[in-house]
Amino acid sequence: MIDDNFLKEYSQILYKTERPSRYIGDEFASYDKNFDNSDVKFLFAFPDKYEIGISNFGHKIIYDLINKKEGFLCDRIYAPDFDFINLLDKYNKKIYALESKRKPKDFDVIGFSLQYEMSYTTVLKMLELFDIPLFSKDRNGSCPIILAGGPCCANPYPMIPYIDIFVIGDGEEVNIEVLEVIKNNKNNKREEILKKLSEIEGIFAPGYNQRAKKRVAELTFENHPKNSPIPHFASIHDRAVVELRRGCGRLCRFCQASHINLPIRERKKEDIIKLAEEYTKNTGYDEYSLLSLSSNDHSKIEEILTELNCHFKGTGISVSLPSQRADKFSLNLAKLACGERKASITIAPEAGSQRMRDIINKNLSEKQIIDATISCIKNGWSKIKYYFIIGLPFENMDDIEAIVKLIENVNLICKKEGLKYPNITCSVSIFVPKPHTPFQWARQNTLFEIEEKIKYLKNQKNRIKNAKLNFHNPFVSMLEAFFARGGKKESLFLYELYKNGCYLESWDENIKKEIYSEVEKKLNIDIEKETTQELSIEKKLPWENIDFGLNRTWLMNEYKKAYKEISTIPCEVKCSNCGVCTNLKTKKVLDC
Ligand code: SF4
Repeated sequence: MIDDNFLKEYSQILYKTERPSRYIGDEFASYDKNFDNSDVKFLFAFPDKYEIGISNFGHKIIYDLINKKEGFLCDRIYAPDFDFINLLDKYNKKIYALESKRKPKDFDVIGFSLQYEMSYTTVLKMLELFDIPLFSKDRNGSCPIILAGGPCCANPYPMIPYIDIFVIGDGEEVNIEVLEVIKNNKNNKREEILKKLSEIEGIFAPGYNQRAKKRVAELTFENHPKNSPIPHFASIHDRAVVELRRGCGRLCRFCQASHINLPIRERKKEDIIKLAEEYTKNTGYDEYSLLSLSSNDHSKIEEILTELNCHFKGTGISVSLPSQRADKFSLNLAKLACGERKASITIAPEAGSQRMRDIINKNLSEKQIIDATISCIKNGWSKIKYYFIIGLPFENMDDIEAIVKLIENVNLICKKEGLKYPNITCSVSIFVPKPHTPFQWARQNTLFEIEEKIKYLKNQKNRIKNAKLNFHNPFVSMLEAFFARGGKKESLFLYELYKNGCYLESWDENIKKEIYSEVEKKLNIDIEKETTQELSIEKKLPWENIDFGLNRTWLMNEYKKAYKEISTIPCEVKCSNCGVCTNLKTKKVLDC
């Protein structure tokens, strides 16, 4: 129940804000534990709007695991929208945690989830709203420990001045160990606590340890959430979620998620079915998604979907499966995943030409892409969604033309076989070099090069009238590359952006190019020059002390193989000795 005193204090603000339900908490299935009776209090802070944060799976895991522990409490806070901040200011009120309605400063730990680089300035603004000094060096014993986890910790350097400790790798066990240390050291000085935290495997505490090794969690039935707060209004992925597997052995050379989440760990078929059953029962959702970087690579995906379909038959509960791998595509699988709803099917060729797919290690032939597409069309799917990336290393205009040619070839076969042309939507993103991938050294295309490629594709529109092309924002992709491979000067840049009011920049409409130009001038930094330079393969990269288990020589060889257009066999089929299993003393877990 929402407390009357809280309503009295904040009612004017809540009535006036665009979406009050973002800020009231008390969702169905939230924990709402007793604040004062808890030994250690953790505030999960998501640097984006409520409807984005509440859907994040990592957030659901941590929230559930901490709250299940006796004496530990996990509350939540999401980035307030501009209108809410202005109202807080107008009525001279402070921001509060969603469930306990306490001030963020009253917590022992505040954990930010760093999912994407464009959320960095939001973290800084949230610290200001929390009344917590922006810089770690200025915090004293009365301040909570500021922690960060998530994929961006693969290169923590741009955020080092603002964050006390980073979780490297899976957070399931590490977060609990952090809270244990805090519980046992409540009377110690902040420095002593940070020193102890730096001794936890998987923690990088700048100034206290020099290196950190990624933590790998075992995926068990127990550590998977079976429930999560149901948002008051539709969020981006408003459904139950069951994680099928973590890690991806395809090792596409641009993909950071694939490399930093190794080794592959598949959940057991029986656990997946039980989890889908419990999660939907506890939440009342009529849809669940099977989460994975590459869902139809699970060793038993067809058996899993068959059993789930059988289990939920007649209940109105349906499954949703992310994009299909064209080489592992089977009609049976597509039918099992989509049931009677043949709305659209997603295939990710990533590149148009075979040469380019070999360079990125996609291990996918044109025939496989076309066969999968035609098979869908013949069986009633009229909408096809393709994912492409442009600006990839070693790409030329023939590779861009090949995207158009691929769609033309699909149309040609449709014509030959008397099929209606499908409605094709192409989502075209721009390559961003990411740490801990074979393409971490690669240059990004200049904005001019990218614009030329986009222009070329747009000009071919009359050849592929049934295709709609949606392009990611090239300027934003450039900023992502700048921060993804950033260090000290990028952290200064962030500070200037924050001082100029940059906030909620994961929403393109909030990015103000003129502010970036001003800061570039002030700090004498040329962002485009930084992102379009190939990094030296000889020099140590700043993020190499963050150990994800990948051998440097393996990453270098993969980059060289890309240049020679040679692909690598997926890790599921044959180990390519990337180093992860040996260096992290772990192994891949397949359910077969
Ligand atoms: S060491 Fe081999 S099995 Fe382990 S993650 Fe790397 S490629 Fe896969």
